[in-house]
Amino acid sequence: MTKIIQAVRGMNDILPDESYRWEFFEHTVHEWLAAYGYRNIRMPIVEQTDLFVRSIGSVTDIVEKEMYTFVDHLNGDSLTLRPEGTASCVRAVIAHNLLYDSPQRLSYSGPMFRHERPQKGRYRQFHQVGVEALGYAGPDIDAEHIVMCARLWDQLGISGVRLEIGTLGSIESRALHRVRLIKYFENHLDVLDTDARRRLHSNPLRILDSKNPEMREIINGAPKLIDDLDQDSLIHFEALQHLLRNQGIDFEINLQLVRGLDYYNRTVFEWITDRLGAQGTICAGGRYDGLVEQIGGKAATASGFAMGVERLLSLMLECGKEITSPVPDAYVVHQGEVAADFAWKTVELLRSNGLKAILHCGGGSFKSQMKKADASGARFALIIGDDEAQVEEVSLKPLREAISQVRVGLIAAVDLIKEQQ
Ligand code: ATP
Ligand code: MG
Repeated sequence: MTKIIQAVRGMNDILPDESYRWEFFEHTVHEWLAAYGYRNIRMPIVEQTDLFVRSIGSVTDIVEKEMYTFVDHLNGDSLTLRPEGTASCVRAVIAHNLLYDSPQRLSYSGPMFRHERPQKGRYRQFHQVGVEALGYAGPDIDAEHIVMCARLWDQLGISGVRLEIGTLGSIESRALHRVRLIKYFENHLDVLDTDARRRLHSNPLRILDSKNPEMREIINGAPKLIDDLDQDSLIHFEALQHLLRNQGIDFEINLQLVRGLDYYNRTVFEWITDRLGAQGTICAGGRYDGLVEQIGGKAATASGFAMGVERLLSLMLECGKEITSPVPDAYVVHQGEVAADFAWKTVELLRSNGLKAILHCGGGSFKSQMKKADASGARFALIIGDDEAQVEEVSLKPLREAISQVRVGLIAAVDLIKEQQ
């Protein structure tokens, strides 16, 4: 026997019994983005590897060990399946000079790729909806992002999500903090493990995340970012909190919030739930004022966030959000040659009237066709034999309600089906 080809590990099929939940999600998100004035942008799924190395940072988990990077053997280019959308979005904005005369509110959605260990809520192909606002400097846009998330949770029927906010300070104060950290750890070189030594000059902040108990004490004594924060960033952070309180948004301040991507400064935030086990962060984002310039554009402020679609859909299930799969209005069964022609006319007329209709294909007895009609979930069966067809009528049989079958012309059938909606 021929060997069955499996899907790639950690990359999922989304089958029809599940995809209607995705469609509900996508529809809700579409309306929500429009309500806030965010316009859709679509970038390629594959980018030059260098884009992610330069934006996300060469010493981050994503770049060090999670990227699907390969050589395009036709021309030798190093390409990468996008692990996130911000870098591509910013690249596109620069390439097309979108910030030329006005700031931009943009959004995108689609698959992202990270080579992680697959588990519940963590996949190698997963989906994000991303929102980016470029050319806005103030805390107002940061607050808008958080407020719009809260509204979306409501629309998705999600509750009990906790918001954590923090600030990383300005690009300059981050740089200052970095220098102080390096100096501090250099004075304690003997306590650092190999990993920490390797990161000392490339990404000293990451040393703070180390789980090595022997370094615990030295890490606890390290200079705190809060002591290096600049005045303007503190004012920005205060203003953000004020705006959130005004909008009735609850939050916790977490000054230890570090993101796994290097480009953030000032505001960072995460929405977290306890209902999904270890993979509890459903949405994360913040400000990245240096990124546009860093990847070759004219300096511009920016802020954004991305949410994990799989985790949100799981949470909707956990919260008992009911979404009904759309059902056909009519299933048309027919037998005989004249009946077949009239059945085609019937389904197309139903569709022209905005109804969802399935034409029975493949023949069979009326009895077996009626079984298919029932299994389709359709609200009505339209039964057409040659005698009905000759006088351009159908027998309309309700499949879900206790109303009796009637024999009517097509216009009357359409009206009756619509009346029962
Ligand atoms: P985590 O801490 O769970 O690894 P992250 O900080 O790497 O998340 P981001 O890069 O901020 O995640 O991406 C934003 C959101 O995308 C996350 O909050 C999460 O909901 C989702 N996400 C990230 N990685 C995965 C994955 N491998 N599978 C499913 N969803 C993911
Ligand atoms: Mg991660």
